[in-house]
Amino acid sequence: MLKHTLGYPRMGARRQLKKACEDYWQRRIGRQELFVTAQRLQEEQWRLQEAAGMDLIPCNDFSFYDHVLDTTLLVGAIPDRYAPVVTDLPQNTEADLAFAMARGYQEHGLDLTAMEMTKWFDTNYHYIVPEFRANQQFRLFSNKVFNAFDAARHMLNATPKPVLVGPVSYLLLGKEKDPGFHRLELLPRLLPVYIEALQRLHNMGAKWVQLDEPFLATDLPAGAADAYRYAYTEIAKHCKGLRTMVTTYFEGLRDNMSLATSLGVCCLHVDLVRDPGQLGDLLPMLPEKLSLSLGVVDGRNIWKNDYGRSLGLIRQAVDTLGEDRVMIAPSCSLLHTPTDLELETALDEELRSWMAFARQKLQEVAELEQVFHGDTGLWEKNNAAIAARAASSRIHKPSVKARTAAITERDAQRTSAFPQRQSLQQQRFRLPMYPTTTIGSFPQTTDIRSLRAAFKKGNLTAEQYDAALESATREAIRLQEDIGLDVLVHGEFERNDMVEYFGEKLEGFAFTQHGWVQSYGSRCVKPPVIYGDVSRERDMTVRWSEFAQSCTALPMKGMLTGPVTILQWSFVRDDQPRSETAAQIALAIRDEVVALEAAGIGIIQIDEPAIREGLPIRCADREAYLGWAVSAFRVSASGVKDETQIHTHMCYSDFNDIIRHIAAMDADVITIETSRSQMELLEAFADYRYPNEIGPGVYDIHSPRVPGTAEMEALLLKAAEYLPARNIWVNPDCGLKTRKWPETEAALRNMVSAAKAVRAGV
Ligand code: GLN
Ligand code: ZN
Repeated sequence: MLKHTLGYPRMGARRQLKKACEDYWQRRIGRQELFVTAQRLQEEQWRLQEAAGMDLIPCNDFSFYDHVLDTTLLVGAIPDRYAPVVTDLPQNTEADLAFAMARGYQEHGLDLTAMEMTKWFDTNYHYIVPEFRANQQFRLFSNKVFNAFDAARHMLNATPKPVLVGPVSYLLLGKEKDPGFHRLELLPRLLPVYIEALQRLHNMGAKWVQLDEPFLATDLPAGAADAYRYAYTEIAKHCKGLRTMVTTYFEGLRDNMSLATSLGVCCLHVDLVRDPGQLGDLLPMLPEKLSLSLGVVDGRNIWKNDYGRSLGLIRQAVDTLGEDRVMIAPSCSLLHTPTDLELETALDEELRSWMAFARQKLQEVAELEQVFHGDTGLWEKNNAAIAARAASSRIHKPSVKARTAAITERDAQRTSAFPQRQSLQQQRFRLPMYPTTTIGSFPQTTDIRSLRAAFKKGNLTAEQYDAALESATREAIRLQEDIGLDVLVHGEFERNDMVEYFGEKLEGFAFTQHGWVQSYGSRCVKPPVIYGDVSRERDMTVRWSEFAQSCTALPMKGMLTGPVTILQWSFVRDDQPRSETAAQIALAIRDEVVALEAAGIGIIQIDEPAIREGLPIRCADREAYLGWAVSAFRVSASGVKDETQIHTHMCYSDFNDIIRHIAAMDADVITIETSRSQMELLEAFADYRYPNEIGPGVYDIHSPRVPGTAEMEALLLKAAEYLPARNIWVNPDCGLKTRKWPETEAALRNMVSAAKAVRAGV
């Protein structure tokens, strides 16, 4: 039974790669230093995996920025605009070219835009989207995979396994930049380059290669099945003797099972964490020469593996296939887990004993084999840990469970329908037409950040910290009044992050010190861990909203993060359905909403930017998800009187396929990101006759550019072509925390002028 991994975290336990890249970009270090750091990290990652007993060790999974971008370099699909950077090679190295493509390039009088970036399936990892032209040519361009294999081969006794994004998934991940063709049509041109690379690896001594084909776990677009058959027949024909492993993950194979098992490869990897049930269907279908790699250790979460459960799956596979045809692995690349639990000195022993990060997951893969071969000591130890977690009183709060079990339709419903609420709210707030507001945060200046850092370090007392936050809040309110905004916000100066802030105040959450996961390039996120039943034992935001309201006679919006977003941006417990955890968080937020209302806050915003991110990979699962997600939002929003106005905010730009569900959230006001699409995405709202109020963002907060009054006025007039004027709010696209004050103030002044101009014209 071979043990292997599909990939390992790149950053290093202390995010060394992040620091090295950023230092290099800022010219604080030279190329040599960057390369040495990268080399050291790779070697350390290989060594760790070898020491843990992995038989096949991935290489080329490491990347300075992104492995999909590396594949684009491998096959020479470099968009023409980067030609000057290419001409500069070897002046510029391949890494410089990759950085230029990922981040844009403004040097030597050039100004090249970056390539697009998008989410890697349902993870928070973002990849660089390949760009394809109708006349796209491919050629073997980058030597990275060969260099990586060479380095690994010289260092390791174990077998290095070069990893590539498979050819069909690679094409599907990209985007056509010309009309009139489909990217899969490029396969006959792409495949020779893959075959050349595979043959070269084989000649260099590679025994195994891993080709990642995650699309086999999705609903395949037309033509993809044929593309798969064609690609892998060609590869088998031209790479005899090279053992090929095709990996799938993030979902089960479902209707692609017979396709995946008939590709003629040597080994197929499946995700048995997401879909353990597929094993039973798969086993009788496997052709005689196909081995199966069992993804039994969760590569997407931080929980300790349940050996009992994994062993059941391994036994089931071995019974049918024999040990020789079975491999053990994590479910997917460990890229999506934090690096090393050993560094977590602040977590208490009990919590730590429930967790495993990447390094510990290697151990688990190794131990599963030992346990399979009869090591009862390891088995009992794991059993005890799993049982202790299951029974811990820190996880299970009967009162919380009873409360979610008792949620009724009624709890997810405001007292009256929107038209009644709207007229009550109009009487109460007497807002003008086209009311103006902002999304919540104001600039998080270095002053504010150092304030928080000083307080965390203990260099500032709670009183001093509070006083400084109060004065920042007071100033922000004064400025909003001066600008002439209608509904104010307190500015969120007390918040580090919109999820962490709430997690720190709720029961059932834990925080790590080094639990970083790569999000894109050098950017990492450190998601909180939801380990137990979630409850709200104390007010979370009331103090700040109450203070802010006391500073002004204008309405002050309360500001909360919604249940789905809190869930989506955390590591979630795996011992109950996500929907149950969402319901628990929803009740906690509901209590806060009610407390804000009781404290005199009349308008409360519940942000849900991540609702769309939670969409399952398979279409068949979407309705179920949207059902419980929308319901969680509604539960959080429905504890208040009709006169209390509930806002929500979402910042992404495709509402077409979920407009029905957005409407079902029934927020009195929704603010959305629209400015970059010139209001065109309001079409979905107009077609649906979306009944509630909407604030389509009138300017893009991602850039320091100050939009002019006329420009925003025109956008508002355009919005009024789609929506009833009385339903339109005026606001930026998103929160302003990443902006600086001067541009923020100038843009908001222009925005208020634009609203006034449109009002005057009504
Ligand atoms: N209220 C939050 C803010 O303004 C919303 C952030 C978001 O949508 N991501 O920062
Ligand atoms: Zn936003």
